[in-house]
Amino acid sequence: MNAKPMPPIRQLYLHIPFCHRICPYCSFYKHLPGETDQAAFLQSIVKEAEQARKLWRDRLALETIYWGGGTPSLLSVRALESFLPALRTALGNPKPLEWTVEMNPVTLTAAKLEMFRQHGVTRASLGVQAWDSGTLQTLGRDHSPAEAEEAYGMLRAAQFPKVSMDLMFSVPGQSLEAWCGSLEKTIALQPDHISCYNLTYEEDTAYFERFQKGEYTRDEHVDEAFFSEAMDRLRSDGYAQYEISNYAREGSESLHNRGYWRGEDYLGLGPSAVSTIDRVRLKNVSNTAAYVRCVRSEESPTMEAEHLTADQWRCERLALELRTARGVDVQWLAGLEKQVEELFSEGLAEMQEGRLCLTQRGKMVADSVIAHLWS
Ligand code: SF4
Repeated sequence: MNAKPMPPIRQLYLHIPFCHRICPYCSFYKHLPGETDQAAFLQSIVKEAEQARKLWRDRLALETIYWGGGTPSLLSVRALESFLPALRTALGNPKPLEWTVEMNPVTLTAAKLEMFRQHGVTRASLGVQAWDSGTLQTLGRDHSPAEAEEAYGMLRAAQFPKVSMDLMFSVPGQSLEAWCGSLEKTIALQPDHISCYNLTYEEDTAYFERFQKGEYTRDEHVDEAFFSEAMDRLRSDGYAQYEISNYAREGSESLHNRGYWRGEDYLGLGPSAVSTIDRVRLKNVSNTAAYVRCVRSEESPTMEAEHLTADQWRCERLALELRTARGVDVQWLAGLEKQVEELFSEGLAEMQEGRLCLTQRGKMVADSVIAHLWS
């Protein structure tokens, strides 16, 4: 009997941990470049890519690449000149349908953008966050509204096929008027894709400490008012809300994130990067120096390996797929009939083409809906 072929690994995530400045709300693994030998770091990424290609040779069929961080656009043209071709070679010269790089407005130059384009980057994710100086200052961002607009113009001039913008709401001190202003300014610029994130207070951040001390507070009603404005304004301008926090013009949805939401296997490279393959979650060491040491000495930089149980996997599928407009397949709902009925009667969810989807009201309280399903 022939064994069932293993599914291909179509997604690659690559983590660049350097940032010029640390934003007080950010919980990702990142640090100032400091004394880090960036050339040695990038060589380690290339080496890890070579090792991963050897390990997963038959299954690696990359369709999407995503560089996150940190600030990948902080890398210099000089560093990129050698890193981009070396990485491509290490990965077997893939031709991904989508290759995203997260970009900080103050790090862009025409030469850098041209280099990204030449090597196949198709999508820029620009960290705008807000279009008013007050909110940007509270967020500790290092760019002004004018610099963000200039950066957006440079991306368009460099002819990136897709440009996405990140915005943030429920920031301390941010008024509803300021938020609506940011939405309107974004709509006026017409990016292909917009992500709107509700600020959360994550552990091990300066914001979390202030939240613990009571300096910052959360108000669900305020969150809902901000979220509601985003949904109404973006949808009325033709952006489809294809996931709770993500809006896109038709054909501009993020393929990479879609893979995560659907539970497809993905490979992660770099410090703190996570891979999930065959329901095993592997996490690289969250320390750049230790990462470089491991890769150079031919040791695995993976520090954690968790075999996800059937229950954990199902819980993830419910939580991630229910956040998408496509909803969750009924196969994941077996035994949850009572909870689903309760969601129907409260008008929080509905069936669409055999899948459970959140209603408009359900989207407002998605986290509680998911918690209710799993209760
Ligand atoms: S620039 Fe991005 S990754 Fe760096 S600290 Fe700010 S939010 Fe975090």
